[in-house]
Parts: sequence; structure tokens; C-alpha cells
Amino acid sequence: MKLDVVVVGGGAAGLLAALAAARGGRRVLVLEAAKDVGRKILVSGGGRCNVLPMEDAPERFVSESPNRLVRRFLDRWPLSSQRTFFEDLLGGTLREEPESKKLFPPSNRAIDVRDALRGAVMAAGGELHAGAPVRNLARAGDALAVRLDGEEEIAAPYVILATGGRSVLAGGADAAGFAWAAALGHLVRPTYPALVPLTGDAPAHHALAGVSLTARVTAWTEKERASSSGGFLFTHKGWSGPAILDVSHVVERATLAGASAEVRVCFGFGEEEWDAALRGAGSSGGSGSLFLSSFLSKSSSLPDRLAGLILEEARVPDVKLSGLSREARLRVVETLTAFPLPASGTEGYRTAEVTGGGVALEEVDAGSGRSRLVPGLFLAGEILDAFGPIGGFNFQWAWATGRTAGEAAARG
Ligand SMILES: Cc1cc2nc3c(=O)[nH]c(=O)nc-3n(C[C@H](O)[C@H](O)[C@H](O)COP(=O)(O)OP(=O)(O)OC[C@H]3O[C@@H](n4cnc5c(N)ncnc54)[C@H](O)[C@@H]3O)c2cc1C
Repeated sequence: MKLDVVVVGGGAAGLLAALAAARGGRRVLVLEAAKDVGRKILVSGGGRCNVLPMEDAPERFVSESPNRLVRRFLDRWPLSSQRTFFEDLLGGTLREEPESKKLFPPSNRAIDVRDALRGAVMAAGGELHAGAPVRNLARAGDALAVRLDGEEEIAAPYVILATGGRSVLAGGADAAGFAWAAALGHLVRPTYPALVPLTGDAPAHHALAGVSLTARVTAWTEKERASSSGGFLFTHKGWSGPAILDVSHVVERATLAGASAEVRVCFGFGEEEWDAALRGAGSSGGSGSLFLSSFLSKSSSLPDRLAGLILEEARVPDVKLSGLSREARLRVVETLTAFPLPASGTEGYRTAEVTGGGVALEEVDAGSGRSRLVPGLFLAGEILDAFGPIGGFNFQWAWATGRTAGEAAARG
């Protein structure tokens, strides 16, 4: 069969690309290394698939390319249109989770998203070959050719490269897409694990493994800074939860550069509120007979064991509130609002939700996903140098860039 479009990688971006190209009337073949397509969709969102965010936040995407380019890629398929697409595809209203501003499928089941996309590609005439790892991609005269195992070559005028990143590789995927893009002349920025738990040598913290609460985390170096509010969790090796994952790239990038990042956590309220709460409770008519640790855990709902660690870190004894000196109070407030995490690294690609770095956006046309360097080549998804925070933003990116590339390849 003579093919018009070969899609390498049947993940989120590849499936949207294949669907758009097939609906545009092209003969499309998807080559997927794993034994089935869309495996990351299946495990996403803890098996529920956080399919999209409720609100746009292009400014929160991380890329070495200018943020205006990230916006241009996202603008090609606005969030509201993506939402309508998935509601049509899944036959119902997406479930809103207002606290986290996340959207989930009507059934709350990731498998329904994957199956619906796979079914839609096939219904549009696209062909899916799973268990077909691509071993190379190169120019072949006016066309492009992919090589499969056993030296079999498939040539097509258009190839959409959607092989994703390096994180959570499974079922034959090998992140070789970055090397092919580089060999074809593209600038591939150094890749690194992102949206990943932090690690550090801090036995007193590890003893709190399992303790979770809501917090605001900020990480910074001389060069960059990121903040996020949300779930925060002590683990046996360090720290996790959405607020940690969202700032983890700052630590990873600092470590790669041989430097270190500062990471601070603000628990509960801001400085003024904490100070006022402690002063009020210690004043006559307040809760002066209460011990500081009880106040922190009872009135402010900090887990007991964390309250103890905070006092240790602040070097303040667990006294009654009425006996708390001004100096000690200020130290407690500072520790509550800028609690230092001795983070020295991350858990790496094994648990990272995405890969940072990748193909520079400057060399890909945002309006079409077309390579500016290699005729016939399109790129989509995580292989591009951009990722968003936790909350459905990475699928938003994959769907948008995938569809744009598929539509453009269909136009020729
Ligand atoms: C555990 C986990 C949970 C996540 N949850 C969410 C979530 O709820 N919401 C969200 O927005 N994002 C989530 N993400 C991130 C999201 O899954 C990715 O951003 C998204 O899948 C990227 O889409 P992609 O198509 O670019 O890459 P992928 O979905 O990774 O697809 C790439 C595909 O290419 C295939 N491939 C690779 N190399 C080859 C090769 N040589 N030959 C053939 N095929 C190849 C791979 O097997 C894979 O199927 C999660 C990620 C993880 C790891």
C-alpha cells in the first residue's frame, strides 16, 4: 500500500496526529513500539486520565525556547475546542475537579480515553501497527524512510515524529527519536527528568514518610524560580506531591549544572497570618495554656509529626503559648513559611511524568508542526522542548501539537 503519512509513536500526540491526517483523507500508518498504543494514557492520572486542565496557563510551561512560541503551538487548538472534541469523542461532559482544576473523562477511566482515540483513528481509516519499534528515520530522496526490525523500510512523503520522551519507557520504546531528530540536523536541547519527586539525605524528614498536606513550594537558583501550591508528601527518599513535582525541574537543572537549588515550603498561611494567629493565641483570653505543638496540629491542622519537625528546625522548645518569646515566635513563623528542604536531586526518569528539553521550538513551525529543516518531517508532543505543570497540561500540549501536525500533513 502506498502511504501518505507515517506516524512514529502511537501515544497521545501520535494518535491525535493520525486521526487528523486520516480524517483529512490521507492513508496513514501508525508505528508503535509497545504492544498496544496509548500506554501512557492508560496509566495517566492514576488510571483516571487527567485529560485536560480546566483553565489555560501557558505561562507555566517550561522551555528553553521563548514562551511566545509555546503559546503559538497551544493556540492552534484552543482549550475550549479540545474540551468539546473530547466530550464528543467520549459521549459526555468531562468531569470537573474544581480544587485541582483538572478534567477527567465522564467514566473516570483512562482506558475509555485510549480506546475512544484508538477506535476513532481506525474508523477514519488509519492503520495501527503495535509491537513495531522503529529503528531509524532518515531522508530517502524526496521522501523520508523509517527502518523497522529486520531491515524492513517504509518510505512516505510525510513522517510525523511523536516518540515522546525518556520517562517511564516501556514495551520497546527507547527515546531514539531525539537522536534521529539530531541526526537530521535539529537542535535537541539536553533532556532531563521533570515533574518528578525530589530526593535528599534528611533522615528526620524521611521518618515522616506518608505525611501529606497542602502547601506552597518554591524552588530557585540564580537563574530561575518556580512556585506551586497543592499536595505535598514526605516520602522515604525525599518529597513528592503535585506541588513538589511542579518545581522539580529547577532542582534537576541545577544538579545537571553542578549547582544546587534552594527549596522552601510554606505551610498553611502567610507570615502575617501565622504571626497574628500565634500572637492572638498566646495573649490573655487566647489559648495560652496550649503547648505550641498542640496549637500547630490542632488549630492549624498541621500533622502532629510535622509540627514536631518544625519546632526542631526552628530550634524552639515546645513551650506553652503564653511563654513563647517574640524571638521564638518569629523563628517559628519563619520556619512555617520558609521551611527548607535539603533536596539534592530527583528520582530520575523512572518516575518522572515528563521529559524536559528536546527539539527546539524555533526550528518547528508552530502553525503546522512542520520541521523548518527537513522537508516532509513533522514533530509533535513531548519530543518538543516544552512541558507544562501537573494538571492535564501535558496532554493539552500533546493533543494540540499532534492534531496540528496531522492536519498539516494531510494538507501536504
Ligand atoms: C505515570 C504518568 C502519569 C501521567 N499522567 C498525566 C495526566 O494525568 N495528565 C497529563 O496531562 N499528562 C500526564 N502524563 C504526561 C503525559 O502522559 C505525556 O505528556 C504524554 O503522554 C506525551 O505524549 P506523547 O505522545 O508525546 O508521548 P507518549 O504518550 O509517551 O507517546 C510516545 C509513544 O511513542 C512510542 N515510541 C517511542 N519510541 C518508539 C520507537 N522507536 N518506535 C515506535 N514507537 C516508539 C512509545 O512507546 C509511546 O507509545 C503522565 C505521565 C506519566 C509517566
